[in-house]
Amino acid sequence: MSEPTRYQQKSVELPIDPWLLEGTPVNGCGVCIALARQRKEALERGEGAKAFEAAAEIRQHPHGRRV
Ligand SMILES: [Zn+2]
Repeated sequence: MSEPTRYQQKSVELPIDPWLLEGTPVNGCGVCIALARQRKEALERGEGAKAFEAAAEIRQHPHGRRV
C-alpha cells in the first residue's frame, strides 16, 4: 500500500467573507444547534471550510417545517 504524499495537509487559509459564516440556529432545533456547535469548533480549529459548510447547512435547514 502506498500512501499518496499529502501536500495539502497544511490548512489553506481561505479568506472567508463573514456572511458565509452566518446562519442563525433556530431555538429548539437540535440540528441547528449541533451545526452551530460544529461551526464554532471548526472556527476554533481554523477549519474555515468546515465552518462555512455548517453555516450553509444552518441557512438551508427547514427547521422541522414540512416543505
Ligand atoms: Zn434547523
